[in-house]
This record gives sequence, structure tokens and C-alpha cells, in this order.
Amino acid sequence: MNPFDYRGGILHAEGVAIPGLAEAVGTPFYCYSTAALERQYRLYAEAFAGTDALICYSLKGNSNQAVIATFARLGAGADVVSEGELARALAAGVPAAKIVFSGVGKTREEMAAAVKAGIRQFNVESEPELARLNEVALGANRKVDIAIRVNPDVDANTHAKITTGKAENKFGVPWSRAREAYARAARMPGLRVVGVDVHIGSQIVDLAPFETAFRKVAGLVHELRADGHDITGIDLGGGLGIAYEDEEAPPSPGDYADMARRVLGNLGCSYTMEPGRSLVGNAGILVSRVIYVKRGEAKTFVILDAAMNDLIRPSLYDAHHGVIPVTEPADNSARERVDFVGPVCESGDILGLDRLAPPLQAGDLVAILSAGAYGAVMASTYNSRPLIPETLVSGEKFAVVRPRPPIEALIAADRLPPWLAP
Ligand SMILES: *Cc1c(COP(=O)(O)O)cnc(C)c1O
Repeated sequence: MNPFDYRGGILHAEGVAIPGLAEAVGTPFYCYSTAALERQYRLYAEAFAGTDALICYSLKGNSNQAVIATFARLGAGADVVSEGELARALAAGVPAAKIVFSGVGKTREEMAAAVKAGIRQFNVESEPELARLNEVALGANRKVDIAIRVNPDVDANTHAKITTGKAENKFGVPWSRAREAYARAARMPGLRVVGVDVHIGSQIVDLAPFETAFRKVAGLVHELRADGHDITGIDLGGGLGIAYEDEEAPPSPGDYADMARRVLGNLGCSYTMEPGRSLVGNAGILVSRVIYVKRGEAKTFVILDAAMNDLIRPSLYDAHHGVIPVTEPADNSARERVDFVGPVCESGDILGLDRLAPPLQAGDLVAILSAGAYGAVMASTYNSRPLIPETLVSGEKFAVVRPRPPIEALIAADRLPPWLAP
């Protein structure tokens, strides 16, 4: 079942025709499928059924309240990396007892907010952070559960900007310092050491780096137990990749769970995991309208009304997103090699490079695929383009889950100093 499919020659999101949705909300806009979100969550839940496992949706991939609430209703927890994400998770109905707080730069204020909320666990990424969290917890008369995020120095074979488990990355406590960090944590009265945490990167399309990291973690759990720590849980992190192109088929949550159980199953630990992209990436598309087709001397450019400020992944990570017309092309229609670009004044404003596309003209709608993760959340208002709407579909129903703000709201957010006031 593909939630985004042609029906009668027109692209639909579940039971909702995309042209009608475009008419209702205007272009460009994001469209998410409830069925796709739920299906991905259930794949994880079923894969870990029978084990003590909590799936903490990593909010940073898509933090729309409606998306978080969809997962919360299925029993998901949340992995948050800022006070803002903590507030979003709580507002969407995720119980504090299911929230883990990750991130290399938690401030005192952020820690205090999470301690006050009574979250499940802090994933601590450095020794200075241990000391500060201890102070904050003691100040609140609390003892908080922690795991230490260790850096296993494993190459995740992913894009350099989203690899996090190499020794040269800023994330986690260096492997050689891990036991000492645990010993320090155990001496801090505001902290209760409960687990080990590892997260080696994102868009990982091969189980081997995960397996290498998990094996190292298993060895560390044995050592820590021998050192006298009561390690009861392992946080597996996130990072499982999705298919952005037809040819690659990354491992499924089932494959991932089988491997995790094989490598870690005899430790008697509970599992926490923090999937983001693999829950939401293929549950969203970005719908855009062609403004112009411009035939240059070297290339044909299809200029869309969506741009790098709406979806920055192609510009930032050289990421590939499929681009398809909303009206299904005939099998025998002519194809032309084009670049899909946006209107932003940057040559890097690219949405799809060198694509074989059917004939397109001004006014046609296209869908940019696999845009559910790291799309809307990374958007900006560069070129004074207001953030674009997000919609959520469920069967025949749709809802605008973030409306398009008026341009006036952009201007109204600024203030003139007194000497420039009219
Ligand atoms: C980003 C992040 C995740 C989620 O990664 P995905 O690749 O989206 O699954 C999980 N844990 C931490 C600590 C992260 O920073």
C-alpha cells in the first residue's frame, strides 16, 4: 500500500485528491498521511513485541503537533533535543514518563524544565553536562535517571553532515572515557545511572554499522556491571534510513529489531529507541506548482513555487527526492531532462537535478516525494517567503495542521527602533 498513489490518473494522498487539496490550501504545501505514519510506527512496535521496549519518536524530524499526537495516541514516547521540543511533546499528549532528552548542549534552564516535568531519562553527552545536571537535580530536590551517550567511533557510511558516532564528531562521551564518566556519575547524588545510550547518525541504510555499535555497547554493559553499575536499559538511538530512490531498499524495522535482539538480547536490558526519519520520511510529500518552464542554452529549468527555504535537504546534503507530476503521465509520453529549481536567489536552490520528466507547463502540479522528515522543520523564511502550510490526511478527510501565515505576520514580527519610527 502506497499512501501516495495515482487513482484514475490523479495523485492522491490516501483518499484525498491532491489537486483539490492544492485548491483548498494553495501551493506550495506539505501533505502527510496518517496511514503511513501509523504503519511505520506499528512496524517498530510489532518488531519489538514481547520485549520491554519503548519507541520514542525523535521529534526533530517533524515536530508538527498533529504528527506527534498521531504517534502519542499509539503509545509512543518522545526523544527531544530542546526545551521547545519538550514542550511540544507534552502539549501533544506524550506522558513525561515516556520522554527522553538528548543533545550535546542542554542548558541549565532546559534541564530544569525537564526535571520539573519529570521526564523518563536524560541522555548525557559529556562530563561537564553530568556535573551540571547533578546540580540542577539537587537544586530541585530530585534524583534523575540518566544514560550516558557513548561515542563508539563507528563509521555509519552516511552523509558527513549526519554522521554522529565517529571520534571526530561532537556527540557522546569518547569511548576511552566512558567507564570513568560512569564512575563520576555514580558518585553524584542527583543522578541515578540506569543505562547506556548510543546514536551513530542518520539515514543509515545498512545494518552493519548499527551492529558494530551495538556489539561495542554490549561489551561496555558487561564492563559497567563489573564496575558495580546497575545497567537496566539500552537506548539504541535512531538513524534507520529510508528509500529516497526506487533502487535502494534499506533494512526494515523488523530486520533492525532482529539484529538488536541477536546482539543485545542476552543482557536482560529494556530497550529505548529514537527513530525519526524512518517513521515520518516517506509519510510526507511537498506539493508545488510550476511557475515557468525556462529553456536555457545548456538546460531546461522547471521553476517551481517551492524552494530551498521550504525543503533544504537537496541544497544542504545533496539529497535526492523523487519529483513526480500530479497528473499521471502516459507511459509513452515524451521525456525531457530538466532541473527542478525554486525561485530563491541562490544557484544552490535546487529540488531535483537532471531528471527525466514528462512535458510540464506553467500551472502544473508536482509532488516532491519523501519529504516528511527534515522538511518543514528545517524551513526558513529566506527571501521573505512565509512558511508553507502543512496538511494531514486520514482516509477521505484532510486538515490543515499548520496554516500559511500572511506576509504581514513576517513584517509585524520586526520592530523599528525609536529613531526610525515614523
Ligand atoms: C536526530 C536524532 C535521532 C533521530 O534520527 P533519525 O535519523 O531521524 O532516525 C535520534 N536520536 C538522536 C539523539 C538524534 O539526534
